[in-house]
Amino acid sequence: MVKKYGMIVDVTRCNGCYNCFLACRDEFCGNDYPGYSAAQPYSGQFWMKIIEQERGQYPKVKVAYTVIPCMQCENAPCIEASLNEAVYQRPDGIVIIDPTKAQGQKQIVDACPYRVIYWNEEKNIPQKCTFCAHVLDQGWKEPRCVEACPTKALVFGDVNDPDSEISKIIAAAKGKLEILHPEYGLVTNVKYIGIPKRFIAGEVVFRDKKDECAVGVKVILSCKGKADKVTKTDNYGDFEFEGLDADKDYTVSIEHNSYNTKKVKVKTRIDMYLGEIVLSKTTAEDR
Ligand code: SF4
Ligand code: SF4
Repeated sequence: MVKKYGMIVDVTRCNGCYNCFLACRDEFCGNDYPGYSAAQPYSGQFWMKIIEQERGQYPKVKVAYTVIPCMQCENAPCIEASLNEAVYQRPDGIVIIDPTKAQGQKQIVDACPYRVIYWNEEKNIPQKCTFCAHVLDQGWKEPRCVEACPTKALVFGDVNDPDSEISKIIAAAKGKLEILHPEYGLVTNVKYIGIPKRFIAGEVVFRDKKDECAVGVKVILSCKGKADKVTKTDNYGDFEFEGLDADKDYTVSIEHNSYNTKKVKVKTRIDMYLGEIVLSKTTAEDR
């Protein structure tokens, strides 16, 4: 079967080391690969773009790094926008901008909704990530950025080979695989795991045992009256719900034996840290 290259970006594994970005620079800055790409300039282009996102509020703050190469789209708008077949897709899925034919075709830059095509003013050409096609064609198994990633946040391979690592990850990921910006309506050969969404977190304390962590308290997240997720507080009395939809109305209920249930309404406009939630003992009057 013909090869079909794909890449998986696991955002939960990326620690923002920038090794992928640097490996890409090392491979392409000042180096021409005729038929594949002209040299990347030393500044102004980010073939592997890294979006750093600070999430939550003190003391519950997280940082997510989302790396964005060219998505190698099946229905690529950059191909449609090009004249003279200056942009084309190879049978293995890689989308190439021909550095000679694309001369002067600035409209190609604007065609990409992911904004991963860069205009080279000096050479008068659009440029982007090539999935390192020039090294794959020499027999390399993976592009420079994937090889440089120390945390395995990037996995690359032939998705048509059921024994490849990427095929096994795809099979195991089941519903977890996502497309970045599905609203663009593109079929991409780069897929993601763990794209940052919204989280709700908090800390539970018992009013009558302030020096003790409220461990193992049941916390229920519900939406429109239906329980969505259930968790328990950890050894520090903390809880967290990750991967929630944005701009949705949720209710967080905190329940524990012989304590009054507490309910907090939350709208996930941003990631939410609810702070300290104090549970009081149920009294005879409450019953
Ligand atoms: S991500 Fe952008 S540049 Fe890459 S194939 Fe899709 S439309 Fe073209
Ligand atoms: S696949 Fe190659 S060209 Fe694309 S971002 Fe990685 S190193 Fe750069």
